[in-house]
Amino acid sequence: KMVDDLQASTQRLAQTEREQAWSEMARQIAHEIKNPLTPMRLSIQHLIRLKQRGIDGWEEKFEEVATSILEQIEILSNTASEFSSFAKFYYEETTVLDLAELINDQRVFFDTRENIRIAYDYCHRECMVQVRKGQIIRVLVNLVSNAIQALEEKGGYIRITLREEAGQYVVAIDDNGPGVKEEDVNKLFKPNFTTKSSGTGLGLAICRNIIEQSGGKISYHRSELGGACFSFTLPIFASRISEQELR
Ligand code: ADP
Repeated sequence: KMVDDLQASTQRLAQTEREQAWSEMARQIAHEIKNPLTPMRLSIQHLIRLKQRGIDGWEEKFEEVATSILEQIEILSNTASEFSSFAKFYYEETTVLDLAELINDQRVFFDTRENIRIAYDYCHRECMVQVRKGQIIRVLVNLVSNAIQALEEKGGYIRITLREEAGQYVVAIDDNGPGVKEEDVNKLFKPNFTTKSSGTGLGLAICRNIIEQSGGKISYHRSELGGACFSFTLPIFASRISEQELR
């Protein structure tokens, strides 16, 4: 009975944690959507005033404001689609799968550029985890896409590694691009940090949320290849049979 009680309370705790993480993410995203609305409204009001007073040069101002509002709309639309796909993934059920194979499938999918080489280094045996598959794919896609974007201009090298360390799996994505500036490192996982013109800055915040919900941790450090290294951990899945055998 105590084991059952313990299991029930662990489940309740996990549910509460999920709900908290979810509402925190929703709060941050609402903030991101509201942020550009005030400058958009102010610039249109300014334009209307210029036109009403017949002030010279309002047509040029119109072009300028219209272009910047279109850019803002593009970012808002990216933010909304990021959020809705995050919401869909969030309620997916967990499955037991081989992480080594999942990563290999994604690598093949990305390895299509002439000037960017992607290597995959792993232990060649099954690495079973219990995760929401769609969410973990999303994390991999995000980290590899960021590395590709960092290398896009000059080309380069990406190395994905999967290893077992201290009773968990560690996945690292290294690149030999420019890396992250020292002063930006603390902002990386915040939902509003981006250095790309139409970036949302949500990618890494969502990755962190997913990995923490899956019982792991995600972090950044400078890669020995010279660029960025993002790595995350996931707990090893131990089947019930082997747990009983251990007892
Ligand atoms: P976005 O891709 O929309 O900018 P992310 O949260 O995925 O949002 O990334 C935030 C920022 O982190 C990026 O704009 C970029 O400055 C930095 N970044 C992420 N990955 C890398 C990388 N591999 N190399 C260099 N900078 C990176």
